[in-house]
Formats: sequence, C-alpha cells, structure tokens
Amino acid sequence: MVVLDHVDKHYGPLHVLKDIDLTVARGEVVAVIGPSGAGKSTLCRTINRLEAIDSGSISVDGHPLPEGGRELARLRADVGMVFQSFNLFTHKTVLENVTFGQIKVRGAGAVAAQEKARLLLDRVGVGVPYDTYPARLSGGQQQRVAIARALAMDPKVMLFDEPTSALDPEMTGEVLDVMRQLARDGMTMIVVTHEMGFARYAADRVVFMADGRIVEEAAPDAFFAAPRSDRARDFLSRVL
Ligand code: ADP
Ligand code: MG
Repeated sequence: MVVLDHVDKHYGPLHVLKDIDLTVARGEVVAVIGPSGAGKSTLCRTINRLEAIDSGSISVDGHPLPEGGRELARLRADVGMVFQSFNLFTHKTVLENVTFGQIKVRGAGAVAAQEKARLLLDRVGVGVPYDTYPARLSGGQQQRVAIARALAMDPKVMLFDEPTSALDPEMTGEVLDVMRQLARDGMTMIVVTHEMGFARYAADRVVFMADGRIVEEAAPDAFFAAPRSDRARDFLSRVL
C-alpha cells in the first residue's frame, strides 16, 4: 500500500532522511518509534507530500506521488493524517469538520456527507452534539473528531504522528482505543508513537528510527524482547 524506496531528504545542510526503504502492506499496522529528532515526523510528512523529497521514490497503492494540482489533492485525501495538535477547523462545527473534505475534495452531496459524518462521529464516540465547536471539546474529543474527519475521505492509509502526545492519560486511552479498533477493522496504519504498549500489542511491525535512518525493523515481540542494535536497546532502556 505504501512503498518508500531509497528516500533521502535534507533541510539545508541537515540530512533528515537517509536512504529510507519501507514497505507497508495493505491492512498492516506499523509503529514508528525512536528518539526526538530521528526524522519520524518528516517521514510521515513526505508520505502525503507535505514535504518534498530530494531523491528516491514514494508510492501509495501503486501510484507514485504526484507533483501537485488536483492529483495531489486526491492523494492527500487517500492518505489520512492525524497530528499531535488536532488541527481542526476552529470556525466550523464538529459535523462541518467531517463534511468539509467530503464535499470539497470527494465531491459528495451535503446530505450524504452529513449522514456519513454522523456515522463516523458516532463510531469514534465523540459524545457531543454535532453542532458543537471544537473549542468546547476536550483534547481527546478533538482528536477523535480529527480521526473521523480523516476517515470521512475513505483513506487507503492513515498516518498518525504522535496523536496522543498532547493528551492526558485518560484521554490517551480513549484515542488509542479508537486506533486499536481501526487496526482491527483492517485499516493500513503508520503510527508514530511514544506509547510503547500500542507499539507492542497493536502493531504488526515496529520500525525504529534514529538519526534519519531506519535502524531496526522487527515484529513487536522480537523487538521488545531483544532489540538487535545498541541504539534501540539504549532507547528502550530510557522509555520502558
Ligand atoms: P522526529 O519527529 O523524529 O522528532 P523530525 O522529523 O521532526 O523528527 O525532525 C528531524 C530533524 O529535522 C530534526 O533535527 C529537526 O530539528 C529537523 N527539522 C524538522 N523540520 C524542519 C524544518 N521544517 N526545517 C528545518 N529542520 C527541520
Ligand atoms: Mg515528531
């Protein structure tokens, strides 16, 4: 579903992604972990072309990333993204947040978009009236709306960049529950996370990054029981 082949990226003199090869199968859940500054967010941002790459190639569902225009808008809709900082439209209601892209990008009619939005909001369990504005929601509720908004586009893959880092523990649990359910439902997911429990028990594979490289890739059980690299051992000794 997602293939990165020899991807390199610099920010000026800083080499942030170094020869990244990563293949994510349909329905697979990949947890990306590693120290701050490793390039995890940059990796996510290249996959929906929020950041350009210097060399290598990226394809989603067999299609190389388009350069821009309408094709790029469509690709971005295929690749749902959920950030640490929610990024909801603050001047739109919860319902409008979830209908907007469906109507603008997917060309859905208003009635159909609203029906789908209500279903998705119920599925993620926001539990507030549909006409509520984001400012009135807790962080956990906002993040669940953000997930519903991404799902409304029928994405082929969902990228999560530390979706629970800004949340307190109780809300973290609620959001992780929604993500675990999505995983069980067969969504292809790339999840950058500090939640080692999620990486260990909900992911099919762990990708450990440091200094712009994928240092280690393994099944969660193997990775957590016996990391092969010193970098990963050192990282785990500090986070577990
Ligand atoms: P992570 O998500 O693993 O913490 P990032 O992908 O955010 O890592 O960052 C990787 C490196 O790139 C860091 O050294 C960071 O400071 C740098 N970086 C990230 N975004 C930019 C940017 N827009 N311009 C310049 N440097 C950046
Ligand atoms: Mg990051």
